[in-house]
Amino acid sequence: MHDNRRLVEERLARALRERIRPARYAASVPLRVEAWQAPGEPVPVAEALAAGYSPFAIGEAWGPPWSTTWFRVQGSVPAAWADRQVEAVFDLGFVGDWPGNQAEALVYDHSGRPIKGVAPRNQYVPVPSRGDVRLFVEAAANPDILAGGFRPTPLGDKATAGDVPLYRLTRADLAVLDLDVWHLTLDIEVLSELMAELSVNEPRRHEILRALERALDVLDLLDVPATAGRARKELADTLARPAHRSAHILSAAGHAHIDSAWLWPLRETVRKSARTFANVTALAAEYPELIFAASQAQQYDWVKRHQPEIYARVKATVDNGQWVPVGGMWVESDANLPGGEALARQLTHGKRFFLDEFGVECEEVWLPDSFGYTAAFPQLARLAGMRWFLTQKLSWNQTNRLPHHTFWWEGIDGTRVFTHFPPIDTYVAAFEGKELAHAVANYSEKGRGTRSLVPFGYGDGGGGPTREMMEKARRLRDLEGSPRVVIERPSDFFRAAEAEYPDAPVWSGELYLELHRATYTTQARIKAGNRRSEHLLREAELWAATASLHTGHPYPYDDLDRLWKTVLLHQFHDILPGSSIAWVHREAEQTYARVAAELESIIDGAVAALGGSPAVFNAAPHARAEVVDGVFVRVPALGAAPLTPADPPSMVAVTPRVLDNGLVRVEIDDDGLLTSVRDMSTGREALAPGGRGNLLQLHADLPNEWDAWDIDEHYKRQRVDLTAADAITVESAGPLVGAVRVERSFGSSRISQTITLRAGSRRVDVVTEIDWHETEKILKAAFPLDVHADRSTSEIQFGHVHRPTHVNTGWEAARFEVWAHRWVHVGETGYGVALVTDSTYGHDAGRHTREGGGTTTTVRLSLVRAPRSPDPHADQGAHRFTYAIVPGATVADAVAEGYALNLPLRATPGAAAAGALPPPLVTCEGATVEAVKLADDRTGDVVVRLYESLGGRAEAVLRAGFPLAAAEVVDLLERPLPDTPLEAGEVRLPLRPFEIVTLRLRPAA
Ligand SMILES: [Zn+2]
Repeated sequence: MHDNRRLVEERLARALRERIRPARYAASVPLRVEAWQAPGEPVPVAEALAAGYSPFAIGEAWGPPWSTTWFRVQGSVPAAWADRQVEAVFDLGFVGDWPGNQAEALVYDHSGRPIKGVAPRNQYVPVPSRGDVRLFVEAAANPDILAGGFRPTPLGDKATAGDVPLYRLTRADLAVLDLDVWHLTLDIEVLSELMAELSVNEPRRHEILRALERALDVLDLLDVPATAGRARKELADTLARPAHRSAHILSAAGHAHIDSAWLWPLRETVRKSARTFANVTALAAEYPELIFAASQAQQYDWVKRHQPEIYARVKATVDNGQWVPVGGMWVESDANLPGGEALARQLTHGKRFFLDEFGVECEEVWLPDSFGYTAAFPQLARLAGMRWFLTQKLSWNQTNRLPHHTFWWEGIDGTRVFTHFPPIDTYVAAFEGKELAHAVANYSEKGRGTRSLVPFGYGDGGGGPTREMMEKARRLRDLEGSPRVVIERPSDFFRAAEAEYPDAPVWSGELYLELHRATYTTQARIKAGNRRSEHLLREAELWAATASLHTGHPYPYDDLDRLWKTVLLHQFHDILPGSSIAWVHREAEQTYARVAAELESIIDGAVAALGGSPAVFNAAPHARAEVVDGVFVRVPALGAAPLTPADPPSMVAVTPRVLDNGLVRVEIDDDGLLTSVRDMSTGREALAPGGRGNLLQLHADLPNEWDAWDIDEHYKRQRVDLTAADAITVESAGPLVGAVRVERSFGSSRISQTITLRAGSRRVDVVTEIDWHETEKILKAAFPLDVHADRSTSEIQFGHVHRPTHVNTGWEAARFEVWAHRWVHVGETGYGVALVTDSTYGHDAGRHTREGGGTTTTVRLSLVRAPRSPDPHADQGAHRFTYAIVPGATVADAVAEGYALNLPLRATPGAAAAGALPPPLVTCEGATVEAVKLADDRTGDVVVRLYESLGGRAEAVLRAGFPLAAAEVVDLLERPLPDTPLEAGEVRLPLRPFEIVTLRLRPAA
């Protein structure tokens, strides 16, 4: 036979593109359009219904950036269309075919009831096939922020975006959908896309080709509707061929990834959620086999409050089993930077919302898009009652391929969680042939496992599954040459995957994303706001619980619930990582300031109720002896002490270039750099010979793409060391505090750093203020240490991880920038140094061998960046933060100093009716207390969360500072775990390395 395969394929492609697809709408009539532009921010529908509208023409421009235009459209369905499928069809001036970061709308009926959203690939709204039509279209002029790639744009903030309309209304019609043509289009798409993935050596490929050729032969391209039915008949046999017995199973779940803020502000996500939820509930009614999985309790809560009618439909769809809440988190948070307690609260607030609202207990963590995953997660997931974990993002790795798609993920404490990483490599699948073939080819577990998960539906900016996807799924259920597509609940997938592959391989430790490494640093004020909020929440809960139990001071349940949820929302995987537009970060900074003020006020109220003449409160889990407000005091852990001076072990002596408190001696050179940090108890020098500590290094920072997200390895090779000091002055000359201030200027920026040493402390603080006006630069602070360290140790949630300091393999080389929470420690046997931070996460740690053989281990903290996309002014302006070096520190010292720096002692003037200070609510030895609070069920029980923080065995001994009726071990949701009643009184618990335990203590009546 002569080979005309290519000619047939080309004939098909053109016919589909130019004749068949455009023939879907058999007839159409224009709607009459009027418009009203809402002044300012979005308005409720009732206000829009009552507004004054003006005539509006097709082709006319609408929509200054971020504005909302309401279109009122009216028309009558032609009588000839009775009993056909009539739809209103809108093109708002869509750009390309991807929804979510451009114009989109929610359509309401004449009475203001929401119907569904419209977007580029979902332009229709069903209407009755006879009578008059009157609709309201709430059109959002959201700009396409990344249209120009990663170039700076002013469009990312309403304040700078200008008022030039972005879109032209292109279509507003009533139209008849020709079902034969529409189905023919889908038949051809499914078969031709499958064909393209099959080898030309396979008979099936040619069988499909000839069937498509026969269909074209009977189709009149000048009258597609009249002949579409005949063409479909030619394809029926080919579509009916069953899949191979060994065909891979794709467990498909409808999904709509909705970033809670990103290239749009939070307020727009409220509307995005409503549009998507309206779409999906409408689609679920049309397609009973649809299962839709949606995460992020926050988005449900928004829809509940802003669109109760849509929310009622969601509830009904959950009840009939088509809608599955998944993830059990408040938002799909970043999975690196949130603190331990915050990650626990993501799970408890998320799970509790779904339990309260739907009676659904989520069993799978659902984080397709977060930028790497902490090794603390497996234990937290299991303690929250989760069995499974889903991520997709690691397919973005630039260097190494994760070897497994289905595996047991093991955390730092040894807990394992059954994890799936969909080989389709996307969370926004649309059942295109190439996606399906990629999933099969890519799946690493072939021969052991038979199935993988496919989240399908438009996403990032929402949208969700479409009727075309549903139709394709029907055709792909059992089709020769294709994997089988089975629409099912993610939990059904996980259950089946676990059952067929119980001995799946194990991946131990963090799931590090080899990309987006700058998200540990970008938008430093957001990082600071998060860190500050987490520690203020800890203090507020601790002191409010203490005051409540000892004095009856009311516990602010509602305020704490709301403040926690605000902080959790801002841990979303584009807010805390710093990858959103300017608008989002501007608002987030304001929100963090408000959260801090509210928490300070809660704390003030509680400590005032706890009374005492002038007193000092210590929220850290370790007893402290420190200088506060010019007084050296000793304060118990989690407790308070009178603000009366104690004797410091020694005083600080200051000369212009030396700070010495008997424990540590710091020498500063004429450049304001540290030339010696000596541990006086051992005489050991922390800095490497010839090295200078706290050397600020400015690098060019120009990633290949993803400016706010990425720092590329080549950044290291362009560097300026900031050695010149403008001024060095003694700011505090002892005896309790010694401080030397160093000022520098460079480029358009200034930096002032106060090197501070206090009596009784081995921690040397570097209090830093920066007025930052660089662009596309990163500033690092380097500490070359005389330590032979194979690995660095970084604090993570409820523990720490070790990472090699060498780059033997590609996996290690790819970790050229990593994150830590409050501290990084490097050590050799018998000696170590810690760097402690109050808001910095990003850092690098490496080593080199000196001439003569010694090893210098250098840790560099990443202080501030200046990317220009998507926020062109990211990080500009004032920053204030503190980091510190602790010579001669063990990991235990690092843990204690990390808490201490982030939880400054709180001195209070004392209440008028001052009495004796009450005892700490709890004391704990052998373990680290992460949270003390009253139980979420408001019974008045006290909840204490503690963990083993050093990676060894411990016996925790917990004593309550109040009469105790009962104690039990509970899960993160404060529900009893089986067989864990404890002796009331002194609670003794053996702890495994890094084990987290939550205790519920019932006070005696
Ligand atoms: Zn995302």
